[in-house]
Amino acid sequence: MENLHSLTAHKLKELISGESISPSDILNDVFHRIELLDLKIKAIVLKNRQKARDSLKASSAKKQGKLFGIPVLIKDNICVKDEATTCASKILEGFKPPYDATVVRRMEGEGAILIGKANMDEFAFGSSCETSCYGPTRNPHDLERIPGGSSGGSAAAVASDETVLALGSDTGGSIRQPAALCGVVGLKPTYGRVSRYGLIAFASSLDQIGPITKDVEDAAIMLNVIAGHDEMDSTSVELPVPDYTKSLVKDVLGLRIGVPKEYFVKGLDEEVAMSVKNAIDVFKGLGAKVTEMSLPHTEYAVSVYYIVAPAEASSNLARFDGVQYGFRARDARDIVDMYIKTRSEGFGSEAKRRILLGTYCLSTGYYDAYYLKAQKVRTKIREDFDRAFESYDCIVTPTTPAPAFKIGEKTGDPLSMYLSDVYTIPANLAGLPAISIPCGFSKTGLPIGLQILAKPFDEETIFRAAYTFEQNTDHHKKKPNL
Ligand code: GLN
Repeated sequence: MENLHSLTAHKLKELISGESISPSDILNDVFHRIELLDLKIKAIVLKNRQKARDSLKASSAKKQGKLFGIPVLIKDNICVKDEATTCASKILEGFKPPYDATVVRRMEGEGAILIGKANMDEFAFGSSCETSCYGPTRNPHDLERIPGGSSGGSAAAVASDETVLALGSDTGGSIRQPAALCGVVGLKPTYGRVSRYGLIAFASSLDQIGPITKDVEDAAIMLNVIAGHDEMDSTSVELPVPDYTKSLVKDVLGLRIGVPKEYFVKGLDEEVAMSVKNAIDVFKGLGAKVTEMSLPHTEYAVSVYYIVAPAEASSNLARFDGVQYGFRARDARDIVDMYIKTRSEGFGSEAKRRILLGTYCLSTGYYDAYYLKAQKVRTKIREDFDRAFESYDCIVTPTTPAPAFKIGEKTGDPLSMYLSDVYTIPANLAGLPAISIPCGFSKTGLPIGLQILAKPFDEETIFRAAYTFEQNTDHHKKKPNL
């Protein structure tokens, strides 16, 4: 059978259990696809053909698991035992974690086959995949454009069928924004839903791991596998995990959908606005109760995020000093000189900018004015959502203000880069679950994403709304012309 790489995990599962194909057919096909395309797209920083074959052999003996034989690509900030894990940074050169992240253990435990590591912005700082020490990944829909970031490699690989599933991480939009720009599905689960043990921390009060997939059903299957309490991550919550595939019902009759007016203001691209408006009409046509509403503190979200996230990052990155992990600069005079040289040579310029910003915000005399104040405004933003979810089951917005921009277009202007996260950041600040699903294309063929948010631990409503939309539209079926 041809073109196995283009199928979803649930379709492949069906074919495997009907014995019309074997997992090694899928693996061969996916690696063939990678060889054909990845020189152009550059989504994958480490390919692991031999290890993938070995683990397929091992899991074939058992022939079981929710993801038996399904290829998965792992973002390069998630630890895989004995395999280079670099966060796309020179400073982690040569680092091989001595353990697996919990999500990796769970995916493999259900029979998934790790095929390699995905490119990303350095330490997940960015919205374009351009800050990677490996160079940029390209958008499969237009190779001159960015795939989004920071999980740009994961999203581009799913969109170009170089993998069936991918794991990403999302601190301010890093799963949803690249999913939107590449025309695939990306879910940031509720803060605490998925264990982050083995995720190299960016901003610990914001980070979540989640699935990037070709359709909504695959995202539900993957969340079933990775969600749940883990004693190795104290922020993971001890709540039962529902079977998310049960939420895949084609029905939004009576669903109360809020549309925040603050998300449809100056700066929103016209084609994005139009696609989202059409998507809202689809929901209305299917019997959802759609109402315009307000999240009044939205305008502060980007400012709050760019204090909280760099502050936490500066503290998390303090451990990379050439002593225990990765790269160490040569020819240092003494230990202080070694720290300085290692960090100056090891970190890229965006990482340095974040460390400087963050350290400044946390320093004596500035902590109250910046970090503490930002945390107070963050509470206001969360309270907007608390109030909204008393009246609405979910909230629908654009995922990004515009489709993918050109490579190099924003690298000289960090502020305009930061503004590409305006619509995704609030969910992280409030700890909410949010998905991005394809909802249209620009005239030039660039994908546009629709974001759906719900209250904490209500991924089920998100799946219900997203699945209903997907089953009534065709946007997710349009593949890039490669
Ligand atoms: N683009 C945002 C940033 O640069 C978010 C990144 C992320 O979610 N990891 O911080």
